[in-house]
Amino acid sequence: MLGLMQNQPLLISSLIVHAERHHGDAQIVSRRVEGDIHRYTYKDAAARSRQVARALDALELGFGDRVATLAWNGHRHFELYFGVSGSGRVLHTINPRLHPDQIAWIANHAEDQVLCFDLTFLPIVQAIAAKCETVRHYIALCDDEHLPKDSGIAHLQSFEGWLSGHGTGYDWPQFDENTASSLCYTSGTTGNPKAGLYSHRSTLLHAFGSALPDCMGLSARDAVLPVVPMFHVNAWGIPYAAALTGAKLVFPGPGLDGKSVYELLESEQVTYAAGVPTVWQMLLGHMKPGGLKFSSLKRTVIGGSACPPAMISAFRDDYGVEVLHAWGMTEMSPLGTVCTLKNKHLSLPQSEQMQIRLKQGRAVFGVDMKIVDDEGRELPWDGKTFGNLLVRGPWVIGAYFKGEGGDPLQGGWFPTGDVATIDADGYMQITDRSKDVIKSGGEWISSIDIENLAVAHPEVAMAACIGMPHPKWDERPIVLVVKKPGSQLTREALLAFYEGKIAKWQIPDDVVFVEAITLGATGKILKTRLREQLKDYRLPGL
Ligand code: ADP
Repeated sequence: MLGLMQNQPLLISSLIVHAERHHGDAQIVSRRVEGDIHRYTYKDAAARSRQVARALDALELGFGDRVATLAWNGHRHFELYFGVSGSGRVLHTINPRLHPDQIAWIANHAEDQVLCFDLTFLPIVQAIAAKCETVRHYIALCDDEHLPKDSGIAHLQSFEGWLSGHGTGYDWPQFDENTASSLCYTSGTTGNPKAGLYSHRSTLLHAFGSALPDCMGLSARDAVLPVVPMFHVNAWGIPYAAALTGAKLVFPGPGLDGKSVYELLESEQVTYAAGVPTVWQMLLGHMKPGGLKFSSLKRTVIGGSACPPAMISAFRDDYGVEVLHAWGMTEMSPLGTVCTLKNKHLSLPQSEQMQIRLKQGRAVFGVDMKIVDDEGRELPWDGKTFGNLLVRGPWVIGAYFKGEGGDPLQGGWFPTGDVATIDADGYMQITDRSKDVIKSGGEWISSIDIENLAVAHPEVAMAACIGMPHPKWDERPIVLVVKKPGSQLTREALLAFYEGKIAKWQIPDDVVFVEAITLGATGKILKTRLREQLKDYRLPGL
């Protein structure tokens, strides 16, 4: 016997319809490439999303055709999120920090028909246009006045000019909720980039799950600033979850430096922010010297790479902001776990609560996880035994787009490539990425632990730990360190700093001071690049 409730498909268009009807006057504020601050409401955004849909119809774009974006977080990008997917096309958000050749490869692989871009990225578009075989329309996210005259790009039009020819009346089409809605390529540190192809259903379920109090915990009382880019796993789904809850949205555009983010957090009275540790490092670096404080920020989600304990403490003790440590990946839409305490933890002393907060957290309903050994045997949840982390759920990848990268599943589970522990309460902690974990004398050393301890030293700005080949131990850890300006820190002093904090055999064999550590396209340390740079390096004593 089937249930007798209404069988409405879970469609992305329903989010913007809801936001318009129930939170029509809630604001969306954007710092734009043009330099101004743009301000409007969900009602306005909904109308313009419908215009996008009509404008795409006028281009005779078919159901399922791909529309690409190379864009910052901003209101026009937001309108594309709903106009493109809502009308049955697939939104392909491209990471502009990738190499232009890789962007061209991705655009061809996705068979993008339209490319919408912020003017910041005009040079990239000029460099790749001749190579993009399928793109028929180029649209600059600006008005006619700002449209570059001699761009050399055929059929270039402005977004505002393109929309102005179309009215706002439009009935969102109804279709199967399993229809593809958006496409997101991983940064591809090895081999060709692979893409997750999200569906309307997976996106809606992810939005419901992520808004829950023990997950992102968004509400109509929040003003949310996603620093995490809309080209990086849909800004962790925040544009959808914000529309679902009616939260005010504040988009930082190209201003991701500490000063710009701080100004916007304050001027828009933001309560909730989200980003990778490196952007918060820049923000705290800007605030500390001038003794600046937050007047409205309450919570911040930090993920994408391990959040150093020193950062969690700084946010809490110096600024009164709760850090929600989160873990996920492109293949998971992206949310997997978020760290929030359980009722029984509330009476624990701060130091014990901190031990829990450092973990990547508990699985969100909708994500099941387990750890297994190399033979696939499930390992205990004791908080000590670590193994390969596998996940499954309705917003976890089932297959890569066009099969690039092979079958991602093992017996119905997706191996994340991360190594983790899970404790008896279900809190997962990432030990390392499986390719970064350091194998020394049959034991594993977590590069994350070594890095976290280094950045806890007051004179260390940034640290990266990698394994170096060793004839006896297989590998030994070394740590690359960027010192804070004016620091006189020595190798010996930093190695001494590790003593008593980790086992002797886990202490790095060497410290290499460097001017800078290059970050990859998603703000993470590129360890493959570091290993290349150090190919002639020899461990002390070898
Ligand atoms: P990629 O960097 O491969 O393009 P993602 O941006 O989706 O892919 O990154 C996913 C990976 O980032 C995870 O598999 C994990 O290794 C790492 N990661 C994400 N969040 C955290 C976290 N909170 N702590 C440690 N590692 C994390």
